[in-house]
Amino acid sequence: MDEKLQPVRDAVVMRNPGEKEFIQAVDEVLESLGPVIARRPELLEASVIERICEPERQIIFRVPWVDDQGKVQINRGFRVEFNSALGPYKGGLRFHPSVYLGIIKFLGFEQIFKNSLTGMPIGGGKGGSDFNPAGRSDEEVMRFCQSFMTELYRHIGEYTDVPAGDIGVGGREIGFLFGQYKRITNRYESGVLTGKGLSWGGSLVRTEATGYGAVMFVQDMLASRNDDLDGKTVSVSGSGNVAIYATELAQRFGAKVVTASDSSGYIHDPNGIDLDLLKQVKDVERARISEYAQRRGDSVKFIPVGKGSVWDIKADVALPCATQNELHGKDAKALLSNGVVAVAEGANMPTTAEATRLFQSADVLFAPGKAANAGGVATSALEMQQNASRDSWSFDYTYDRLREIMRGIHDTCAENAEEYGLPGNYVAGANISGFIKVADAMLAQGV
Ligand code: GLU
Repeated sequence: MDEKLQPVRDAVVMRNPGEKEFIQAVDEVLESLGPVIARRPELLEASVIERICEPERQIIFRVPWVDDQGKVQINRGFRVEFNSALGPYKGGLRFHPSVYLGIIKFLGFEQIFKNSLTGMPIGGGKGGSDFNPAGRSDEEVMRFCQSFMTELYRHIGEYTDVPAGDIGVGGREIGFLFGQYKRITNRYESGVLTGKGLSWGGSLVRTEATGYGAVMFVQDMLASRNDDLDGKTVSVSGSGNVAIYATELAQRFGAKVVTASDSSGYIHDPNGIDLDLLKQVKDVERARISEYAQRRGDSVKFIPVGKGSVWDIKADVALPCATQNELHGKDAKALLSNGVVAVAEGANMPTTAEATRLFQSADVLFAPGKAANAGGVATSALEMQQNASRDSWSFDYTYDRLREIMRGIHDTCAENAEEYGLPGNYVAGANISGFIKVADAMLAQGV
């Protein structure tokens, strides 16, 4: 890290004790900014970097709800409104037992730069809860969402803060949240949440967008080396929304996707994933991934958690689409020894700093999440546009807009990496491009 940035980093560490994921995300960005402050010392003088590292507002609240046995349960709710230089705070809600303030801050911080990269008018934020939806009935999830929104509603709005989904928050949860917002406020304010159902203000392509966007980004990276996805073997981790639609588009582009995983283990399907079966098991039935192996037959192996990872499987392209810090140094070494040529983060920060360095020094095309998975939030911004104009666009038109946005992100990252002396480094390119736009807006808007 540039020595001028070290005191900024030290202050962030002091101010956010124990929040290791947040510090990891800050480090990753600050490590890229040396060449920027060398050219633009006024950004350092105006303390723009310190300001960007401190959320504008952090809300923590109690979420009481009653389970199916009549017992009162308590969870903790969060919304971190990180930066509004470019537009209303925008970012998902994560419901997962691992959620605490440090996770929400890392995700909110990433969201600032990701949203900036999309070129859309959206600031950065994130929220969620340590609530675990796994094994809960629809009624329990509804009561939880209603209680969560009973506090959250006063902080959000079309022009203020626009949440969406993330891990553990999909169409079902957005429906319950929107219903409660509407009931409390007596306003049909479509633009207050994104990821809505198609008949009540949602956008076509939003469900597919994060996974599709990641694969589009891979396509653009490969094209820069006169290569493409056709005939490539791809390993994907996860089996949620991002993994499923990354698999779908990769298959459509002629690749063979051979893995999927969940918290219980992973499957290796050497003949290529049967996507209808995967959707049925994971999306419709919300069952374990081993169920896929059982139904698909003998050619498919299920490997339980602790007995290895999807990254042990030989692949040309790796798409980590599960969660943070799921691809470690030893996994990067395994992928490299098997000849991987491209890695794109469908999840947020799935690759550890060590693994990222290993890929980069081996000249593997490496796309950071804030660029590669920006298609989801970009399509959320397209949903907001449709809501603002009370319109709904066709699948093809929305897909083409997403395609154009992803290509724009790719090209901006590549150009800025080159411009700042780090050609081919998409991590630096994404951080520099995302940062400069936000920093300039903050300078213009004053302290
Ligand atoms: N949770 C997604 C992300 O990490 C999408 C957020 C949104 O659509 O607001 O970018």
